Amino acid sequence: MFVEPLNFKRNQYPRTGWIEVICGSMFSGKTEELIRRLNRAKIAKQKIQIFKPVLDQRYHQENIVSHNDNYIRSTPVSHSSEIVELAGDCEVVGLDEAQFFDEDIVNVCDQLANSGKRVIVAGLDMDYLGKPFGCTPHLMAIAEFVTKVHAICMVCGEVASHSYRLSPSNERVLLGETDLYEARCRRCFNLGETVSSRA
Ligand code: ZN
Repeated sequence: MFVEPLNFKRNQYPRTGWIEVICGSMFSGKTEELIRRLNRAKIAKQKIQIFKPVLDQRYHQENIVSHNDNYIRSTPVSHSSEIVELAGDCEVVGLDEAQFFDEDIVNVCDQLANSGKRVIVAGLDMDYLGKPFGCTPHLMAIAEFVTKVHAICMVCGEVASHSYRLSPSNERVLLGETDLYEARCRRCFNLGETVSSRA
């Protein structure tokens, strides 16, 4: 489990910011981990703000919603450039669904961290083809801390890092989950439709 390093002291001056990335496949618990970290900061009375791209409208618009109904209120933004101003003087900034933000999100995260904020970003690292997804790989490169979380392969029970799409659509952004995707290990991902979790 990720534990904030001791040398990042809240009250040291000048305070340094940093970037944490939580990445992984679908059903890996990225959002739960984001919420866990943000809740702990909130309990410590740190000012937190959460943003998500407007594109993700699967659930309630104002909330970041995790799959287990554990949620924190978030602000939907249509362009990442809005975030710096909206973040104001908060100490911790959370971002969910990083892969759906525009490419400026990399500079925005840098700017936030440079101004002394703790930035926690959750996002898919690979798309349904197993290719690096959106800006997540760039964010992983500039982050101080990267946590890759894993799902369980729905076919064989091994550790899963791939999101396998069951639907024939080849649109990269396809929202909605349980019925459209499976978490799969590398082997079952490559075996494709020759194996099934529904056999
Ligand atoms: Zn498998």
